Amino acid sequence: MKIAFSKKFGSFEPFLFEELYRKAKAERAKGKDVISLAVGDPDLPTAPSIVACAVREVRRAANHRYPNTKGNENFRAAVSEWHLRRHGVRFHPDKEVSILVGSKEGIAHLPMVVMNKGDYALIPDPTYPTYRTGVVLSEGRVHDVPLLEKNGFLPDLAAIPEKVLGRAKILFLNYPNNPTGAGVTLDFFRELVKWAKKRGVIIAQDAAYCEMYFGKPTPSIFEAPGAKDVAVEFYSASKTYCMAGWRAGWVVGNSRLVCALNALKENIDSGQFNAVQNAAAFALRHHDAIVPAIRETFRKRAAFFAKALRECGWRFSDPQGSCFLWARPPVEGGSSDAVYFMLDKVSVLAAPGSGFGKFGEGYVRFSLTEPDATLKEALKRLQSLDWSRKKRSADGRD
Ligand code: PLP
Repeated sequence: MKIAFSKKFGSFEPFLFEELYRKAKAERAKGKDVISLAVGDPDLPTAPSIVACAVREVRRAANHRYPNTKGNENFRAAVSEWHLRRHGVRFHPDKEVSILVGSKEGIAHLPMVVMNKGDYALIPDPTYPTYRTGVVLSEGRVHDVPLLEKNGFLPDLAAIPEKVLGRAKILFLNYPNNPTGAGVTLDFFRELVKWAKKRGVIIAQDAAYCEMYFGKPTPSIFEAPGAKDVAVEFYSASKTYCMAGWRAGWVVGNSRLVCALNALKENIDSGQFNAVQNAAAFALRHHDAIVPAIRETFRKRAAFFAKALRECGWRFSDPQGSCFLWARPPVEGGSSDAVYFMLDKVSVLAAPGSGFGKFGEGYVRFSLTEPDATLKEALKRLQSLDWSRKKRSADGRD
């Protein structure tokens, strides 16, 4: 039978990072010793204490039954306590906290509870691709908000046209930022909340990298007065506790939005395995024993990688957080050309900036989620690259 797929499905691009996984696999199948710095998948194992907690929880028969979508009381209470300790903000565990099967699914589902056909979502460019997913599913329209290096990769809200703002429902943001590594200040969030209230735009701030900061701790948008009127914030155990495979995240903030998202999800998923939820709750309650060492590992990696890359002629603003380095190659040109040149000549795979949006063109993203020795080997290979050869081949002279 010939299967006719829907127009909506046809409008989806392959997910960038899945494509990059496939690319590395295909090159390795050809016998190449590929170092992939293309995907942000932390190499550090989950802390043994979290794993031990999970093993105990897996053995408990009560956990073998269905969880609920919203998350169990233990995890929601741990989330609420964590935000009070970390940001001094209280979230009601029943009304203002909902557990997610990884933050990605919550991010993809949120637009469906607020957007109607033709409404605009304001999406940063360059961006983590999932912000667009729910907008496409809601038949909404995307308005790209450029994140420019000269503005510290912060959005210029004043540049959004009035006719777009009139139908804008939601603005997605992500700080510390993937892919640029930019940080954010509480002053920025204060102004943003005022703007959002005035313009009637919901803010969805994605704090997946909130604990990977290299200077001052990342503020929460809820430290800004009035944020609960307009905002939700997404959190993830994936990077903070190196638990990417476990699929645990949460959303906090405006109770009507949090509850609506949960009501939608009740029709779609049945929540996360209670053993995983309880292990993530353990992680939150033992944050100070686990997280500083992870943060320090990524800070040191960013420092030595940045130093060596700059010595090879790459140009960039130093990252303030995240596990990425967002840089322009020694020779101007397209992102994909640069990525293929590196892959072809020295078997180092990075993510082309153009895959994150048109304002990512010209940049390359390196993910520092491989062991130090692998990162050093990648740098050695990059140091051996003669970029003048790329220029010559682009000019048709090689
Ligand atoms: N947000 C950003 C900016 C990300 O880079 C990622 C994953 O790479 C996620 C959210 C999703 O994280 P998870 O679904 O693992 O919680």
